[in-house]
Amino acid sequence: MTQRPMRACVIGAGLAGLCCALAAVDRGLSVQLLDEAAEPRALAAHIEVVPNMLRDLAAFGVGDHCVRAGFPYRGIDVIDRHGRHLHELPTERLAGPRFPAALGIRHDELHRLLEREAVARGVALRRAARVQAVHEHTGFARVALEGGESVEAELVVLAAGAGSALSRALFPQAMPAAELGQAWWYTLLPRPVDLDRPLIAFGDAGRRAVLVPVRHDQAGLALTEPGMPAADVAPAAHLRRALATFAPRLRALAPRLDETTPITLRPARSALLDVPWHRGAVLAVGDCAHALPPHFGQAAAQAVEDARVLGELLVSATSRAELFEAFERRRAERVRRVHDITTTAARWDLQPDSGADLNLLMERLAQTVAQPA
Ligand SMILES: Cc1cc2nc3c(=O)[nH]c(=O)nc-3n(C[C@H](O)[C@H](O)[C@H](O)COP(=O)(O)OP(=O)(O)OC[C@H]3O[C@@H](n4cnc5c(N)ncnc54)[C@H](O)[C@@H]3O)c2cc1C
Repeated sequence: MTQRPMRACVIGAGLAGLCCALAAVDRGLSVQLLDEAAEPRALAAHIEVVPNMLRDLAAFGVGDHCVRAGFPYRGIDVIDRHGRHLHELPTERLAGPRFPAALGIRHDELHRLLEREAVARGVALRRAARVQAVHEHTGFARVALEGGESVEAELVVLAAGAGSALSRALFPQAMPAAELGQAWWYTLLPRPVDLDRPLIAFGDAGRRAVLVPVRHDQAGLALTEPGMPAADVAPAAHLRRALATFAPRLRALAPRLDETTPITLRPARSALLDVPWHRGAVLAVGDCAHALPPHFGQAAAQAVEDARVLGELLVSATSRAELFEAFERRRAERVRRVHDITTTAARWDLQPDSGADLNLLMERLAQTVAQPA
């Protein structure tokens, strides 16, 4: 097709899909957003809306909603195993004077508010809608759903996450995600009254914890450690034991965890799709194109950045081919740089003696993402 797309079908209502749907509907496209899940995922986890992510969410006009639903902060404290303050990591204010530098927010809350906003702006969201295949036709694609229905669109945004069967079918060149040999445990706990910005703390045996305020009454805990636990590990008991190796501020959280506390376990993975990220009418975005390790909050931030760039190109590109070419030009190299930095951070977590300088790495990352994509 040579014309600009008028109809978009977005597959997957995670952060990448929700933001791409917002970007497309704001540019006047008619947008169908499909997700196989009957309900939004309710994971016990938080997302750090880092400065570049808040800048992009503010550009979508949802910055105020995020500030209201989350916990704004500036700066990050780093402490050692004994509770000694090591240093403060800066967070730059990139979203403009009206907004804080960054914020913590519950994983489900961020998805819910984006979903509400997408629907309010005219996105047609269909849940329990599993996409089985995408068939190319002249000038458009037919997106085939389980159950026999289909949706036609000139632009199909594939935001189905890392390693979905659909992504593998559409992009057979994709390498399976590399397991980094690191477990990330997430949970939500009452916010300690003195926690008004994130706290990074070191435990024993390569463990690290990040405690992030997400609401006035709640904090998100992410605890990382080398290796994956055995299948029969009881999550709450395991986390209590792990927290006992940290400074008193973290140790004090252990009694808050009991066997009924929802806990999410996520292996750190990394995958980068080689360009092209498009095929026919389909453009891969988010974790589907670049599943980054969660370090420095860039997995989510880069997914939102995809949507921002897509939105800008939907205004300037005169054809789908031009759109895809420009998208890859603006995204692939930048994402590769961020991927290299976050993967190095994950490796250094696992090899603490390697002379690693996490602060320097974070500085490099901050320089890379400070300029809009
Ligand atoms: C517990 C947890 C904590 C996290 N914490 C952080 C963090 O602190 N910092 C950070 O940067 N990142 C974090 N992430 C990762 C971050 O959320 C993702 O990188 C980001 O949301 C982009 O994901 P996505 O939208 O591309 O994919 P996903 O969020 O995986 O969404 C994909 C969606 O596609 C749907 N889908 C899949 N296949 C089909 C199909 N065939 N048909 C229809 N629908 C389909 C799925 O149901 C799903 O809703 C976390 C993720 C999790 C799970």
